[in-house]
Amino acid sequence: MKKKQFKAESKKLLDMMINSIYTHKEIFLREIISNASDAIDKLYFRSLTDDSVGISKDDFKITIALDKENRTVTVADNGCGMTAEELENNLGTIAKSGSLDFKNNMEEKSDVEIIGQFGVGFYSSFMVSDKVTVLSRAFGSDEANLWTSEGAEGYTIEKAEKAEAGTVITMYLKEDTEENKYSDYLETYRISSIIKKYSDYIRYPITMEVQLTRPVEGSENEFENYSEVKTLNSMIPLWRKNKSEIQSEEYESFYKDKFYDYEKPAKVIHSKVEGQTTYDALLFIPKKAPYDYYSKSFEKGLQLYSNGVLIMDKCPDLLPDYFSFVKGLVDSADLSLNISREVLQQDYQLKLIAKTIEKKIKSELTTMLRKDRETYEEFFKAFGVQLKYGLYEGYGVNKETLQDLIMFISSHEDKYTTLNEYVDRMQDGQKVIYYACGETKAKIDMLPQVEAVKSKGYEILYFTDNVDEFAIQMLMNYEDKSFVNVCADKLDLDTDEEKEAIKKANEDAKDMLGKMSDAIGESVTGVRFTNSLKNHPACLTSEGMLSTEMEKVLNAMPNADSIKAETVLEINANHAIAEKLKTLDDETLAKYAKLLYMQARLIGGLSIEDPAEFSNLISELMV
Ligand code: ADP
Repeated sequence: MKKKQFKAESKKLLDMMINSIYTHKEIFLREIISNASDAIDKLYFRSLTDDSVGISKDDFKITIALDKENRTVTVADNGCGMTAEELENNLGTIAKSGSLDFKNNMEEKSDVEIIGQFGVGFYSSFMVSDKVTVLSRAFGSDEANLWTSEGAEGYTIEKAEKAEAGTVITMYLKEDTEENKYSDYLETYRISSIIKKYSDYIRYPITMEVQLTRPVEGSENEFENYSEVKTLNSMIPLWRKNKSEIQSEEYESFYKDKFYDYEKPAKVIHSKVEGQTTYDALLFIPKKAPYDYYSKSFEKGLQLYSNGVLIMDKCPDLLPDYFSFVKGLVDSADLSLNISREVLQQDYQLKLIAKTIEKKIKSELTTMLRKDRETYEEFFKAFGVQLKYGLYEGYGVNKETLQDLIMFISSHEDKYTTLNEYVDRMQDGQKVIYYACGETKAKIDMLPQVEAVKSKGYEILYFTDNVDEFAIQMLMNYEDKSFVNVCADKLDLDTDEEKEAIKKANEDAKDMLGKMSDAIGESVTGVRFTNSLKNHPACLTSEGMLSTEMEKVLNAMPNADSIKAETVLEINANHAIAEKLKTLDDETLAKYAKLLYMQARLIGGLSIEDPAEFSNLISELMV
């Protein structure tokens, strides 16, 4: 019989399984049982419309058998089965859903991560076995085939006998080692507990013949062995169970298994709703963003069940975009099973469910923020940008939902703060919320205006995400406090006297400032003295809606027409340079003006248009 080779990717995965140091090897059983359950699902769905299937719903089952002598664990199902060709395609290649993404990620990840992160399926049987056989007969076919493999060398497929449609997977356990006692999997109690832990909710009975002992009737000290077929799983979907009966471990393993995460979720939300609409929802907030979260290929959505039967794998209408990170499912009896995708979108019940779910997520996040700050901050690091994006995208309509969930790093203790906390800390006389934009907190701290505002004792929010300022503009204000960009807006930090003084200084120097503005050219709309700088000689201040930071973001977008913020060069009236300027002849004044402008751009994190000129002017000054 000719041995066939595994496809390259499959071989790699298989090698990984065979040599795995993954500690939770027991998950092989979950994977094999999941496959069996899927196979039964397929035949079951068919039986709904096709009488020739001839199996009643109650006859579908998964059977486990343990053989201590031969060291085998066998899992049999009476599902759809596989033809020879399907055996070849399904078990010789990784080509399936989850596995596809998996391929792209395989290179950088360790086996522990891979096995944990993606349900690795059938091949996980090789973590515990050195030989696996798959005897299968496809429904509707009268021939059966036996697939056999002893690992990475390859596999064989040969004709075989099997009375009914379905699949029997036999795993020949590896020899025990010091670290791994594989023979544990031959023990009834061990198998029962693995099933309870990972596969309790499977919709079909998982049965096993167990050996028991009982006293012989009428005798006190005589015992006899007998066997009994036991059903190991409760078959109740996890979400239908009472919360009080569910261990957190069960939720976590369910989440990892169904939603391909290797970390436990930051939050489990299990809710039963009755009233206008009735449904069970089991939702999870992940700890970290999946690798494709911020890419186009990411699809949001919750699984949708009608009375325990899956009708859609990713129903997008159940989640608003700003909560797209939520995973989970909704099961409602109010939905019709035969509903099509288009109709579903119009469905009134569905909208109602979506609305309540949104509220629930918001309230859970709010509670987390209040009661478990550390977890919330971790969550926010992963998904905060999405929340802010929600504010921006909805042009402010999501304000009520989102404004108290967003956070920014603040100059107060260098920690995340909510807007509410900021406002609570505002001192008497502070009327507005100050923020400054830049790539990093360190860069923002170098901005001259930031220094000035901080020196007055005011707190500043650091906007380091591109979306921050856009989002805040949609918000307009928070608790009647408006937002002020310390680099863009009139800060109004001066006393009346100071205002008078600066007004006079500007009027007196009107001529000179005009000449400076002409020398710099169109890049600025004017030059003026200011009181709001502390140590720095000059800075750029933008006027109008567009700040210099937004200019940067917008210009970084593809096809951007070069967009310019309206900028004024402000000179520190209390800096020695202010006096110096007044002593210069026109030619030198022009050079100083240009230099001050370029300096201000550099400090503000902008590039200068003509570095050669900058260098020339500096050297001229030096010599
Ligand atoms: P996945 O389940 O993620 O698709 P697996 O490697 O676990 O990946 O299985 C590969 C394919 O083999 C399945 O998609 C299914 O088509 C087929 N398969 C596995 N086990 C069975 C089974 N017990 N009955 C029928 N088909 C099966």
